[in-house]
Formats: sequence, structure tokens, C-alpha cells
Amino acid sequence: MSVFHLKYRPQKLSDLDLADVADRLRKYLSVKEIPQSFLFAGPKGAGKTSAARILARLINCEDKIEGEACGVCDNCKDILSGRSMDIIEMDAASNRGIEDVRSLKEKAYLSPTKLKYKVFIIDEVHMLTKDAFNALLKLIEEPPKHTIFILCTTDAEKIPDTVLSRLIRVDFRKGGREELKRSLEKIITGEEVRITTEAIDFILDKSDGSFRNLQRSFNELVLSLGKELSLNQIEDFYSKRSGSYSEEDFENDLIGKEIKKILGKLEKMADDGVDFVVFRENLLVYFQKKLLAYFNVGNEKVKMDLKALESWINLLIRAAKQEKETEIDQLPMELAVIDFLGDIEDKNCNPKEIEKQKETEDLKKNDKLDGVKVVTIDVAGLNIDKVMESWGNILMTVKPFNHSVEAFLRASRPVELDGRKLVLEVFYPFHKDRLEEARNRKIVEEGLLKVLGVELAFECVLGKSKKEPLIIHNDTPMESVSEKLADEEKKEDKKDLYDVAKDIFG
Ligand SMILES: [Zn+2]
Repeated sequence: MSVFHLKYRPQKLSDLDLADVADRLRKYLSVKEIPQSFLFAGPKGAGKTSAARILARLINCEDKIEGEACGVCDNCKDILSGRSMDIIEMDAASNRGIEDVRSLKEKAYLSPTKLKYKVFIIDEVHMLTKDAFNALLKLIEEPPKHTIFILCTTDAEKIPDTVLSRLIRVDFRKGGREELKRSLEKIITGEEVRITTEAIDFILDKSDGSFRNLQRSFNELVLSLGKELSLNQIEDFYSKRSGSYSEEDFENDLIGKEIKKILGKLEKMADDGVDFVVFRENLLVYFQKKLLAYFNVGNEKVKMDLKALESWINLLIRAAKQEKETEIDQLPMELAVIDFLGDIEDKNCNPKEIEKQKETEDLKKNDKLDGVKVVTIDVAGLNIDKVMESWGNILMTVKPFNHSVEAFLRASRPVELDGRKLVLEVFYPFHKDRLEEARNRKIVEEGLLKVLGVELAFECVLGKSKKEPLIIHNDTPMESVSEKLADEEKKEDKKDLYDVAKDIFG
């Protein structure tokens, strides 16, 4: 079976998934003087390169039929077979220097070998260097008569204004639901796939709007499940691919601030070889719908407040960017979760949580510390080792007052006791910021006082050492030092996420 996105690549203007783009191109080609320099701008998988090739054929076809290339004349055949010397495609991502543009220029000044127009299709044009853009600018300012330039980009913002102003810009975009459906139905018909309307709707719900991704996913579906597809099978397929951690479960875990549970699941998914790009895309689609629901668009049930939702979506977008910068697939998602849950204290997530916070505050006012073991040790004998030994108790004391302060402390490491100042090593700037906020500082200092019996101030320093935070497990009494060391030794073999994160993202 051939690959769907190639087999069903549009061949005519009327095949283009975006009808408005087809209309605009028709208009440009209907005038006597065809524009010579185009910019096709828009997201990946929206059909820019396909449209560029269609355009190349259309302006060279000797026997157009109803505004479309005939597909059978010599010129059409030459181009379709990829043999034509007059269609020049260049990927600016790998040919981005001035020399590359110079050699392109030389070709541009030679007459076409056979076709009416030489067509230059430059992909990812925003990747060109500044010098290369300058050279290109001269070329498109006064293009040789027989040349057409089609510059394609996913990032038009990066193209110099001087160049932009010379180009006829055609904007490509992600597909709307009906457009995606039309695109999918072409394949369903072409491949004689049997599938229910509900199943098609399900696939469209999971789509991120990219025609190419939709075709690829459907290709995978048919390859793994065959040509008779039921909704159940498809749901199963998608849930396996995204690691059986449903978007809703994930949302609930976020709201429940189940950081340990979420990170554990993400690690398990990484072991299972789950595709984290797909997983993240699914989450993004899911939470975007929740965002719209805030403004009564759609009928999703909203669980987070707007501020929390916006912040989480921004973190997912950040994770998308970071995916390209790390080899550890799950890391960007883990960082998003850690940052979100570190930050969420200010945002209301659900009424229960607010109630719980209130109770904690009340408890604090009454200064009742039921169930918390208070250990006081000899003041004179206090040193950093004693602080470390009592760290578990300190965490337990702090926890009822503020869960996230406890989480920040747990992710830090007491490193030095300088008189009455305790130095904590933290591994993220935002941990430092949060711990040092006046309100949180007070909670920590009270915890230190209660457990150590000494008034201590503290200071956070950003992690310089390659050591891990002092790992203390939740809700368990302080482990013995030897257990802890054994635990840390075991971890030596594993890659230290914190260090890796720091190296990569600073
Ligand atoms: Zn033709």
C-alpha cells in the first residue's frame, strides 16, 4: 500500500484542501501578467508544497482544461515525472547560505531548457541567512522574465520586510472540520475503507488541523487495523498510541495536584514507547476546547479556572517548542507539569480544593497541629547533618499548611548551615522565587522552628552541584540515612532529570 499523503497528494487546484487558497491562485493566474514571486505561508502539512507544484504545472501546461493543467501534454508529463530541469526545488533549511542563493541566481538567468517558465520552489525560506536574503532580494526585485519564484515558509515573521514587500502572499492555514472531513473522505472512498460516521467524527475530534497529520494517522490506522474500522477499535488504537492516559484523567490528576502520580505515569509511558508528540497534541486539543467552553463555545465541562487553564495551555505550547531541544521525549511534558503545579497555588481549581485550603488556613489560625509529630533537638548540637536528618519531619510539618511549599522543599536540598541561616539548594529559578515569597518563607521558617526548636532564616541558591534533591517520600516518616543513601546510589545509574533539564533549558 502506498503512503496516503503521497498517493492522495492534490494534483489540481480543485484538489487543494483549502478552497480559498485555490480560488486566490486562480485569480492570480487569470491575469495577463502573472505575478512572478509568491510567498506561501502557513503551518506544516497545510499543502504549500503541493500547491506550489500545481502552480508550476499550471503555468507551463500547453493545453489547460477548464483552468487546470491537463496532465498529459509533454510539459505536464515532464514535470509530473520529476525530470524537468526547469522546476528547481530547494530546501533552505539545509541550503541557507549566500552561495546557495548565488547558484540559484545563475540558474535563474539562463533560459528555461524546455518549459515556458522556470519555477523555483524554495522551502522553509525563513531559514536563509541575512546575506542570502539580500542576494535573493535583488533577484526578486527584478526577476528574469521567464522565472517564477514560490517561497514557502512556516514562519513568515522571520522574513525581512524588504523581501516580504516584494512577494504576493498566499496564506495557508490549518483545516476546518469540514475541510478535514472532505480530505479524509477522499481516502476512505479511494481505499474502499468501511467506517462509521461516529468513527470518522472521533478521528476528526483527535485531529490538530493538519491535513498531512490526519492522512498519516489514518494511514497508520488502516495499516494496523485493516479496511473495516469500528469506533471501538479506533478508540483503542488512539488510547494505546497516547499511552492510555486519557485527557480527562490527566486533567483530574492536575487538578488534584497529583504531581508524583503524573510524573510516574509519564515515565511509565516513556518506557512503553508512547509517542509524546501525539500525547501532547491530544492534550492541547482537549484543553483548547475547555478554553473555548469558558466563552460558551462548544459544550465541554470546565474544571479549572481561566487563569489556570491559560497557564497550562501556555506550558503545553512551551513543551512543543522544547520537544525539538531534548532527546528525552517525556521531559518537556514533565517540566510543564512541575511548573504548573508549582504555580497553581494562586489559582482556584475546584471548590473542594478551595475548601481544603480554607481548612488549612483555619487550622493555622488555631495553631493546632494534630497528627504532626514535633521533634525538638538540642540547640547547641544543631548542624547541617541534623537538619538533613530532620528534613522529613520538617516537610511533614509544613505540608498541612501548604502542599506546594512542601513540594518545593522536597525538590530542594539543605546544603549549609551558616549560623542561623540555612542554605537550600534549589534546581529551578521559579522554585527559589516561590519559596522566598514572604508568605511561603514564613511557613518554612515556622516549620524549621517547630521541628528544630531554633529560629532559622533560610536562603535559596540555584543548584550548582550535580547532586539530586534530598529525596523524601511523601507521607512516610523520615527514612534512615542509610536507606536514603542506598536509594540515592540506585539513582546514580539513572539520568538525573533535574540536571538534564538545567543543561538543556538553563
Ligand atoms: Zn498539460
